[in-house]
Amino acid sequence: MIIDPQAQQLIFFICLLATTATIAWGAMAYPLRIAPRACSYFSCANLLVLIGVILNSQRGSDPSYLYWPIADIVILTGFILLRHGTQRLFRLKSSIKIDSLLLTVFALLILIQEPSSQSNQILGILFSLMTAISFLLLAKDNRIALTPSLNLTFILLLLSPIIVLAVIFSIRALLLIFVPSLSSHIATLQSADAIPMLWFFVIMTLLVNVIMIGNALTRLVQKIRLQADRDYLTGLWNRRSMHQRLALLHQCWLRDGNAYSLILFDLDYFKEINDNYGHAAGDHVLIQTATALGKVIRAIDTFSRYGGEEFLIILPATDAKQVALIAEKLRSTLNSLPLTWQDASIPITASFGTITVSQLDTPETMLAKADQAMYHAKRTGRNNICCATLPSTPLNATA
Ligand code: GH3
Ligand code: MG
Ligand code: MG
Repeated sequence: MIIDPQAQQLIFFICLLATTATIAWGAMAYPLRIAPRACSYFSCANLLVLIGVILNSQRGSDPSYLYWPIADIVILTGFILLRHGTQRLFRLKSSIKIDSLLLTVFALLILIQEPSSQSNQILGILFSLMTAISFLLLAKDNRIALTPSLNLTFILLLLSPIIVLAVIFSIRALLLIFVPSLSSHIATLQSADAIPMLWFFVIMTLLVNVIMIGNALTRLVQKIRLQADRDYLTGLWNRRSMHQRLALLHQCWLRDGNAYSLILFDLDYFKEINDNYGHAAGDHVLIQTATALGKVIRAIDTFSRYGGEEFLIILPATDAKQVALIAEKLRSTLNSLPLTWQDASIPITASFGTITVSQLDTPETMLAKADQAMYHAKRTGRNNICCATLPSTPLNATA
């Protein structure tokens, strides 16, 4: 079959783009080690598209399984890998089983077609349907991944190229079903009629890679933000972000008068745990404490690591009565925690200081008062709670 020279140039251009993207993602994955797993999926996806387009462009009069069904299956596998790269990038649940099943069904349907130009139409329909499904699923994963960082309108705007691609492939499938005479325009690559479709494939290769670059950057920013805001050991908010949140909440209190409270607690005799069981055991206790008490507090509360074995919880919309109850729940949860380290049971307690905001308070005075209350709880026997407004009467002296 004679290939139209302009069509040939465009096929060459698509191959050039896919080759560049394969190398660029490969370089991101290995020498640079930026999200290596995800970037290697993106690199393989582009490589498969490259191989598929080369095979597809060889379609001539000779019947060949390699140039007809296999070429399409190779490209479709590339699209599935794009989805997997996105899932790896954003740590989403893998859909490998469903995708493999879907791909197998389409691959079987494609493979039963005779490899000849007569099958261009049916292959075009199957290829377009599977591509439309792949891009819609890719858009769905991207929406889930971007939801924590961006609002829905912006997400839809960013994902609109993927959605448009899915729509165009669905329209292509419908046109091939209902207007088979369009086959030479939209179901082959080699003829002059295919030039608009080839331009669409050029744009598609570019757009999809640009979106994936955007995803990789978003993930990088999410990771940097997380590392800047969180404590590396426990995953709780760090002191810096705690101060920011406290300042913000204090401004809200000044504006709407909705009282908030703080709970500051320090693990008792923690140094002994380090001395008796080792530093790793101490770290384990800190992580377990954060995990167990994190389940007791509400989603609106800010649980932060204030210092070594000191933790601070900011409780919006919480008065003195409520904070006393929450502190007691935390204290008893910690007491009953089945904490073990290498088969040894480690009993763990903490001393709590609580404070509820009142007139003339600032975030700094709140922290200072919570600190005083916590030290009062230490002095009065540990494993108890002291309220800053009533420093001389611990609420619960159980030690
Ligand atoms: P108290 O009941 O008075 O609070 O006694 P304590 O032993 O808990 O307090 P102290 O201040 O004497 O000891 C705190 C210890 O916490 C000392 C420090 O080495 C340890 N520590 C601080 N940060 C970490 C950490 O990230 N991991 C581990 N394993 N230990 C830590
Ligand atoms: Mg301590
Ligand atoms: Mg301490």
